[in-house]
Amino acid sequence: MGKTLRKNNQLTSLFDMEEGYSLTQAVAEADRCLLCHDAPCSAACPAETDPGKFIRKLRLRNLKGAVRTIKENNILGGICAVVCPAGRLCEEKCSSTEIDRPINIGKLQRFLVEYGWQIGFNPLLKKPANGAKVAVVGSGPAGLACAAALSKEGCEVTVFESARKPGGVLRYGVPSFRLDGDFTDREIKDVAALGVKIECGSPVKGRGAVENLLKKGFKAVFVGAGLPAPYKLNIPGINLKNVTTATDFLKAARAGNREKISRLVKNKNVAIIGGGSVAMDAAGTCKALKAAKVYCIALESMRELPAYKDDWLMAVDNGIIIKPQCRVREITGKGGAAAGVKGVETVWKKPGSCLPSNAKDVPGTEFSLAAGAVIIAIGSGPDRGLAEMMPKVKLTGRGLIQVDKKTLATSAKGIYAGGDAARGPALVVDSVADGKKAAGSIIGFLKGAK
Ligand SMILES: Cc1cc2nc3c(=O)[nH]c(=O)nc-3n(C[C@H](O)[C@H](O)[C@H](O)COP(=O)(O)OP(=O)(O)OC[C@H]3O[C@@H](n4cnc5c(N)ncnc54)[C@H](O)[C@@H]3O)c2cc1C
Ligand code: SF4
Repeated sequence: MGKTLRKNNQLTSLFDMEEGYSLTQAVAEADRCLLCHDAPCSAACPAETDPGKFIRKLRLRNLKGAVRTIKENNILGGICAVVCPAGRLCEEKCSSTEIDRPINIGKLQRFLVEYGWQIGFNPLLKKPANGAKVAVVGSGPAGLACAAALSKEGCEVTVFESARKPGGVLRYGVPSFRLDGDFTDREIKDVAALGVKIECGSPVKGRGAVENLLKKGFKAVFVGAGLPAPYKLNIPGINLKNVTTATDFLKAARAGNREKISRLVKNKNVAIIGGGSVAMDAAGTCKALKAAKVYCIALESMRELPAYKDDWLMAVDNGIIIKPQCRVREITGKGGAAAGVKGVETVWKKPGSCLPSNAKDVPGTEFSLAAGAVIIAIGSGPDRGLAEMMPKVKLTGRGLIQVDKKTLATSAKGIYAGGDAARGPALVVDSVADGKKAAGSIIGFLKGAK
């Protein structure tokens, strides 16, 4: 997702992240900045990373100052630099200044964060301990940003993470050719350096488990549990072998047995059902794993595809075949495993709504494709165990955590929530913004409680 296009836009390996800027390249790019007084780029960053300020500092060759601006405002500034769809955020507003092409803010931000790491410069300061213990559930970007901000304020923060390693989707979703494990580890080190304890392999589960944390001496809890439950399709053939979800496929490609995941797609045609950025990530991963033909079959037209344009352009450049406005009706099998898909072209019954219930089949346009693997990429939802884990916290009709938009407080005193678990599918930078916001509210709550 976003703008991490590779050299010539070609995916050749599952593992190599795109190169960052050198100092010379970064300075040359910063020198193009018009130093706008009102910095529209800064106003467009959800996490208030303040690119206007760090680019100004870079232009004045105050590199350490520029690193400080980024890391003080955005503890995951390096990761956001890599994964933000900046062309829709800060860089979009930069183009409003009508210079020839927007400043490559993401690449400047990444250069500066990596420069700080290279010279061992850690600009983050911590206030003296305030004696308050706070628990964070989940070590995705929301949990990490909240934990870091609370720790800077002097809280003693423990992050409980069910997975073996921290990072959430950053580690188990985004393919490593866009964001690799070493880069993620390096940035999480900055969170740990603030004194945050990250306990991996520690799921918070069972009846009232979140609320019980308050009884165990934690003064407040932040829940950043993400959207771990992939949606499934109810069509014939869904339970065949070699049919999986994008969540499971991408997770296995990042963390599982790579031989096994490679066998699933290598030299085979793969049909991916879905047209979002996650479908494109799955398609890119299939290509990097040497799949033969890769199809992305979407209900939407090309103009309506939920994937970011950069993402589907990259997919097309890599030979991925997007079949827009089509519905898969059946996965066909042979010997118990997927052998293909059968589908039909569709049109919308009424314009303006891309819901599956609004799609109408076009008779006579039925098609079938040979595919030895099928990947379902139609989104994911919240953990179905949330209601049991925190019975006092109200959920929305979609099962998301209901929060006060200004404070991110839930309906239960002392419990806050943010990131995808409260918003629905969003961006890493949105989760960072939520983590910061919730930390501010928690500090206010702790002061009030005192
Ligand atoms: C494949 C994919 C690619 C994406 N690419 C991009 C991109 O390029 N750019 C972008 O901006 N956004 C991207 N996104 C969206 C982005 O990753 C999410 O918006 C973001 O990660 C949400 O952060 P979060 O902290 O809310 O949740 P998550 O990242 O999902 O983290 C939640 C964490 O909580 C843990 N957890 C859950 N329940 C418990 C429990 N009970 N006890 C303990 N731990 C628990 C989980 O194990 C997980 O580690 C992508 C999403 C996907 C799926
Ligand atoms: S964090 Fe993302 S949106 Fe914000 S300035 Fe950096 S690249 Fe742009």
